[in-house]
Amino acid sequence: MPQRRKIAAGNWKMNGLADSLGEARAIAAQHPAPGVDIVLCPPATLLARMRDLLAGSAVDLGGQDCHMAEGGAHTGDISAPMLADAGARHVIVGHSERRTDHGETDTQVAAKAQAAWAAGLGAIICLGETLSERDSGRTLDVVAAQLTGSLPPGAASGNTVVAYEPVWAIGTGRTPTPEEIASVHGFLRARLPDPGIRLVYGGSVNAANAAAIFAIADVDGALVGGASLRAADFMPIVQALERA
Ligand code: PEP
Repeated sequence: MPQRRKIAAGNWKMNGLADSLGEARAIAAQHPAPGVDIVLCPPATLLARMRDLLAGSAVDLGGQDCHMAEGGAHTGDISAPMLADAGARHVIVGHSERRTDHGETDTQVAAKAQAAWAAGLGAIICLGETLSERDSGRTLDVVAAQLTGSLPPGAASGNTVVAYEPVWAIGTGRTPTPEEIASVHGFLRARLPDPGIRLVYGGSVNAANAAAIFAIADVDGALVGGASLRAADFMPIVQALERA
């Protein structure tokens, strides 16, 4: 079976103005030939400018969400063809902040993934349990249901990355134990429709914990929020992934 190429994706969330673009420039410049895939997902307002400064570099551009429709009367939303037109090659769908803030369901996430594929984008499909779901012993049931509901038929290594992101670990500085990550990743890996689909961990990954997380079986990389905003924080994570 071909080896899965590792991937580090940075989710800037609702952060970043024009003067933040220097961080993306530094990430691209510091690592002209990375041994892993690197994707930066800035807010939509920065996509076109980031595309220009990443041109010719090894760093790919991604969106943070897309609408399931190609276009139409959806004020404030962005379609997958628009992201592709702005230079994106990937899009995050089903992030827990979208599921919570906007009430997105697994069915909608799957429709967004299909819209992404139709526009030629790879979908980074996020799932993960809340703290109360973990505390009540339901983690594996929850992620199994999310996986079934959020991955459309046709999900394959060329169009999909799955991100396991425990909601309680996102932006909190808390991470599951290596055993907990290994347990969920092993469980999900066995249920992926294509063994080549990359399965990344997300939730408070930083320079200090990255190497330990990347040493866990079935972890093919990371989706990184806060620590992707600055090259000085993100590049040690990329380097740890290259060494893993
Ligand atoms: C995320 O936004 O997907 C994320 C994992 O955030 P953080 O790394 O800040 O926990």
